[in-house]
Amino acid sequence: MGIPLLQAARIGAYVVKKHVMGVKRYPLVLMLEPLFRCNLACAGCGKIDYPDKILNQRISYEDAMQAIDECGAPVVVIAGGEPLLHKELPQIVEGAIAKKKYVTVCTNALLLEKKMSQYKPSEYFNWSVHLDGDKEMHDRSVCRSGVYDKCIAAMKAAKAKGFRVNINTTLFNDADPARAAAFFDEMKAMGVDGITVSPGYAYERAPDQKHFLNRAKTKELFRGILSRGKGGKAWPIFQSLMFMDFLAGNQTYQCTPWGNPTRTVFGWQKPCYLLGEGYVKTFKELMENTDWDKYGTGNYEKCADCMVHCGFEATAVTDTIKHPLKALMVTLRGVRTTGKMAPEISLANQRPAEYMFSRHVEQKLTEITEKEKQVADRRAAENRPVSLEAAE
Ligand code: SF4
Ligand code: SF4
Repeated sequence: MGIPLLQAARIGAYVVKKHVMGVKRYPLVLMLEPLFRCNLACAGCGKIDYPDKILNQRISYEDAMQAIDECGAPVVVIAGGEPLLHKELPQIVEGAIAKKKYVTVCTNALLLEKKMSQYKPSEYFNWSVHLDGDKEMHDRSVCRSGVYDKCIAAMKAAKAKGFRVNINTTLFNDADPARAAAFFDEMKAMGVDGITVSPGYAYERAPDQKHFLNRAKTKELFRGILSRGKGGKAWPIFQSLMFMDFLAGNQTYQCTPWGNPTRTVFGWQKPCYLLGEGYVKTFKELMENTDWDKYGTGNYEKCADCMVHCGFEATAVTDTIKHPLKALMVTLRGVRTTGKMAPEISLANQRPAEYMFSRHVEQKLTEITEKEKQVADRRAAENRPVSLEAAE
């Protein structure tokens, strides 16, 4: 188990409190994407395909603090784009920690060694380095050679400075279970504090559409991996073991998209981290005005193959709280990797995919242009010659 006991206990207490209060929908992890700009261009990435004017947008420190307060989730995951390109990131991290949030910064680690002195180790903070497997697997995944070596060097340097260092691994349909398991063994031996692993989501804008996993292949792959790691017990998994149980085909889960609400430069993203089907200005609007029943496995074509942690981890945590004995057995025995799989949710009545990316991009570009014009007009007015003002 890669989650520190105190952290698990605090998050557990938060979930129990929400249940006791009868709150039907509540956030567990705020996904904060303070920018989309990245210094890599991975083939499976669905986050960076925007015009420059949008890639140049940043969520400010003030807006980040407001998002954290509005949302109230106990965990804040800062992703992107590459968060270390954001100049105010050190203040954002410090501000979130001051609010007693558990903060994870997801990074491709290219800038980690250079920038880590701007951060302090804390029980509330960890780096999560994007690492999709061993040297050959990772460099192929990020479409650039030498990145794996940089990641490893940065992780070692961060560990030496006393930081908690996790990895986050996204797997695609070319992953080999034995090799993935050997990679997790290696990461454990290296002393990483936690491993987050998930199948990749089939982003419609990702350049490589050939390598996304479907549900059947995901389950087979995770059974193959987990069978080589004592059902997941061999590694410091930084996720609920019930989520791993789901990935191995032993649970029929529907996603909990409001569990990981997402704030980007567009606003609060409907309905989840993976799908941008609309944006609203406030967290309250997101929770109250999203038609949640339109999404999830069996409800929407774009959800058909999704088994990603930011959709299903919250479901697994809720299941753990509701069925502690079942969860305890999985924790003690490890994830079952043989035998019958749990039934699948039928896809027969799912609604067809809607494509709205271009509309959102156009709206945002219009908004940016209007703001730029307002700023230019204000500056022009400020610089107006005194003689002219006097004449008016
Ligand atoms: S490092 Fe992350 S954000 Fe950057 S291109 Fe790769 S997947 Fe996308
Ligand atoms: S299944 Fe849920 S988490 Fe996955 S894309 Fe659909 S709404 Fe989002």
